[in-house]
Amino acid sequence: MKKRILLVEDEPAVARGVHDALVFNGHVVEAVVDGRVGYEKAREGGYDLILLDLMLPGMAGLEVLAKLREDGIATPVVILTARGQESDRVKGLELGADDYVVKPFSVRELVARVGAHLRRDERGTEGAAPRVTLGGLEIDFTRREAWCEGAPVALLPKEFDLARFLLENRGRVVTRDELLVKVWEYPVAGIQTRTVDNYVMKLRQKVEVDPTNPQFILTVRGKGYRLADT
Ligand code: CA
Repeated sequence: MKKRILLVEDEPAVARGVHDALVFNGHVVEAVVDGRVGYEKAREGGYDLILLDLMLPGMAGLEVLAKLREDGIATPVVILTARGQESDRVKGLELGADDYVVKPFSVRELVARVGAHLRRDERGTEGAAPRVTLGGLEIDFTRREAWCEGAPVALLPKEFDLARFLLENRGRVVTRDELLVKVWEYPVAGIQTRTVDNYVMKLRQKVEVDPTNPQFILTVRGKGYRLADT
């Protein structure tokens, strides 16, 4: 099935290269050059993936991302970032981006990364998996949906991934480094960021009866986190 990709990039040469390569690989690409227009398009939905430049006219990429996540739009976002914008990259991941690609990138690399994200999303649609319980949440990882007492709850893509990793490693201490590498796919360990803690905090809001006194996702001081055995 053809995938729809929204490309928000104001550099004509980059936009054209990415557009052509993705179309060549069988995707449908809608390209816009303005951040605000990108935000409005993304909000209308219907995209399988968003490629988002950071320095944009109209609205900065990080603001686009933050607003989308605030609106509960969970479409995977891959940030296109210039070399040396390390803090923006980390901020982007904290705001709920799924990945980043550093410019100048090879179009082939970008196409491969996009393909990996689309496949990861698709993996979810094979076979019916039972709903899994995590604290007060019921999660269907196959369809990437969650409920609390029967009412749908919006989880970000990385919240699903984090929940799944914790469940797969229930009872064991998982370190921040391990989570950054395994869940966020950071290339190396040891990067200082609040990403993991911020996401744990967000997930606790949805999982715990009292997020200030967690009974499920436990903090292991100086080490990381552990999902309670119960
Ligand atoms: Ca730009």
